[in-house]
Parts: sequence; C-alpha cells; structure tokens
Amino acid sequence: MLLQNKQVAIIGGGMGGLTLARLLQLKNSNVKVYERDLNKEIRIQGSPLDLHEDSGLKAIIEADLLNEFYANVRSNASKARIVTKDFELQFDEHAFQEKQYHKKLNTVINSLDDISKPKPEIDRFELRNILLNSLLPETMVWDCQFDFMEREKEGWKLHFKNGSTAYADIVIAADGANSKVRPYISAEKPIYSGITLIEGTIYNAEENAPNLFNFSKGGKVLAFGNEQSLLYGTKGDGSLMFLLSCKLPENWIWEGNLDFKNNEAVYEWFKKVYKDWSSEWHELLTAKELYFIPRPQYYFPLNQTWETQSNVTMIGDAAHRMPPFAGKGANLAMLDALELAEFLTNDQFTDRKTAISHFEKRMIERASEATKDTLENSDQLHSKEALERLVSIFERRYKD
Ligand SMILES: Cc1cc2nc3c(=O)[nH]c(=O)nc-3n(C[C@H](O)[C@H](O)[C@H](O)COP(=O)(O)OP(=O)(O)OC[C@H]3O[C@@H](n4cnc5c(N)ncnc54)[C@H](O)[C@@H]3O)c2cc1C
Repeated sequence: MLLQNKQVAIIGGGMGGLTLARLLQLKNSNVKVYERDLNKEIRIQGSPLDLHEDSGLKAIIEADLLNEFYANVRSNASKARIVTKDFELQFDEHAFQEKQYHKKLNTVINSLDDISKPKPEIDRFELRNILLNSLLPETMVWDCQFDFMEREKEGWKLHFKNGSTAYADIVIAADGANSKVRPYISAEKPIYSGITLIEGTIYNAEENAPNLFNFSKGGKVLAFGNEQSLLYGTKGDGSLMFLLSCKLPENWIWEGNLDFKNNEAVYEWFKKVYKDWSSEWHELLTAKELYFIPRPQYYFPLNQTWETQSNVTMIGDAAHRMPPFAGKGANLAMLDALELAEFLTNDQFTDRKTAISHFEKRMIERASEATKDTLENSDQLHSKEALERLVSIFERRYKD
C-alpha cells in the first residue's frame, strides 16, 4: 500500500481533516493532525451542518460512525419558517407532519430547490467530537499552527508557530478557506463573490433574545425583502446564530467602515442598511452576549488546475472555498476525505502521484460544479423574487 511505513500529516482538524484521519486510521495508516485550536473544548464557530447522502453522510457511513451521528442529530434543526422582512409568516415547515429521518435519504443537492429537502442536521461541535473520539490517542496535536514547510528527504519538514517541527512523508492541507499550505500547491487566488456575510452569535439566546429564539421553534428562520436576507437558527448549546447577507465592496470590512467589536455601532449600521425591515428584528442586534464575525465570501475559479505532487495535496475549503448558499462546503470536504483515503489505500494505483492526481481531478470537477451552483443560488437568494421562489419550492415539496 502507498502509505505503508509513511507518516501522514494533516494540517487542520475541521470536518475534512478529521474525517480523513479517521478513514486513514481504519486502514492502519500513521496519521497526525496538527490543529491550531488550543484544545478540543474550544467553542467552534459556525452554523449547524446538514449532511447529504452522496457526500457527508457517505463519509460518515464509511467511517463507521453512523450510530454516533444519528444519536446527535437535532430533528427540528433543519425545519424552516419563511417570513417577510415585516415578519409575516409565509411558510412554516413545523406545521407539517414530522418527516422521519431515516438512514436511506434520497438527497442530492444540485440546485436551490434542494435546499428544501430533508437532511439530518447536527451541530458542528457534536460532529467534531464524534470524529475526534473516533481517533487513536495521540493523533491530535493541539495548539499547533502551521507556519511553513521545507523539503526534506522524500517529504517535508513542518514548522509550527509555537516553534515545534515535525517530519511527514505526505502533507494534506485541510486548514480551511485561508489555507497556509495551499500556496505550496497552487498560486491561484480566490475571487470575491460580491457578498459579505455578517455572522452574529447570541449565547444564552432563550434569555437574551427570547422572542426570536421561541419563534424559531428550534429550527431555522429565513427572511427576505429588498434583495436582502436575514437567516437565523438555534444550536444545541442554547446559542442562536444569525447571518446578514450583504452586497458590499470587497474591502469594505477592512477599511474601518464598521467596528465589529462595537455592538452599538453594528446596530446603528443595521438600522440604516435594513431600514425597511420591521423592528422585531432589532432583538437580534441588541441582545446581550452577542458577538460578530464578518465573512467576505470568496471562491476559486471554476477552471482551476495545478500540477500534482506526490507528497502534498489539499482537501475541503483549502482546495475549493465557496460561499455557503448551496450548503455543500463541509459535505464536499468530507467527500474529499473519503476519496483521498480510498485512493491512497485501496491498491488501485501503483504510485502516490497517480493516486493523488486521480483524486485531485475528481475533486476539482465536483467543486467546480458546486461553486457554479452556489453562485447561482447566491444570485437567486439576493434577488427581488427570493421570498416567492423559496416559498413555492417549500410548498411543492409538501404537496408531493
Ligand atoms: C455561515 C456558513 C454556513 C455554512 N453552512 C454549511 C452547511 O450548511 N453545509 C455545508 O456543507 N457547509 C456549510 N458551510 C461551509 C463549511 O463550513 C466549510 O466548507 C467547511 O467547514 C470546510 O471544512 P474544512 O475541513 O475544509 O475546513 P474548516 O472546517 O474551516 O477546518 C479547518 C481547520 O483548520 C484549522 N486551521 C486553520 N489554519 C490552520 C493552521 N495554519 N494550522 C493548523 N490548523 C489550522 C482550523 O482551526 C480548523 O479547525 C458553511 C459556511 C459558512 C461560513
């Protein structure tokens, strides 16, 4: 096998990196995951994730973690309530009979229509824990931020910000959208999508934003109006996360236009930009224990390509970051992990470079499709017809 007696270094312990580590360990490979987070207790930011049968769920099945996964699925989390900017309810998925989550979901996400299909949803923290708990002891190296690497023997000497070093025969970049390993593989730069997401998280949301917390019924709320959107949902830890999806110039957030540590300033800005939205929404912006992260959305060119190497490759957002409007990024990262593990361990290929080249070709193709879908969805979700379109998609689903 191509990894026999080889040391594999995965940089980044997100969904892609951890799935890969688990799958490689099931095939007896020597794997270390170097993660910049201090430890496993760190709160992970970000929305809950729904896993798709043809990608994320497939990887979970292959990783033999389906029972653990279903034990942590939050059944109401994927249910949506669609409202106008004036807080008028247009569609309520909670009003329909519970669709049973089952192990054979017929879910392939290809278009905006697919957003309305049932998918098992889990909090990132839980999914990360399931994957972490499945790894052999000593796999994770916490508080270890990749800095740079240099060629050594057939592999790489890795240097971390904390001053430590390590040797690896093969390095896999799973360090997310702003990957520091990617430049060793590709010089292609990401393109700004025109959209910046402003992510707000309210802790203890039942207390700090009671009306909107209760209105969500443990699921998602999707609001549209004036070519703007506001999406929010609750998480198992009692927090509520909302997203303001804004058409803003690329460098707007870096130019000091808004101090995201100053909640009052963000509230003032919101009142100006979302001026036609009803005051019910203000509860989100005035809540206590509220923290913001601005996230300008980038994607890599649809036709990106690079020269394959035998000792370094990349998966997930490092390889194909994209806006989240098709809900595919984590699913793709996990599918990348599944295929890379398979190609490196199934003895189908005689050498590592060929195995990696096959993997990269397939990954680039599907990421390009997904990027196209997500950009189309982005246009639709920021159009005048967004509300009507989404409502009719949900209505159709429940008529069928
Ligand atoms: C608002 C929002 C909603 C989304 N919703 C969905 C959804 O519903 N479904 C879906 O499939 N996707 C969704 N996505 C996309 C998804 O979050 C990403 O595509 C996914 O997390 C990518 O996984 P990854 O493992 O490649 O990277 P990440 O999850 O970003 O993990 C990267 C890891 O690397 C670590 N790291 C970074 N730099 C270093 C370094 N230098 N050294 C060591 N470690 C490092 C990080 O700490 C992190 O643990 C959403 C994204 C956003 C922003």
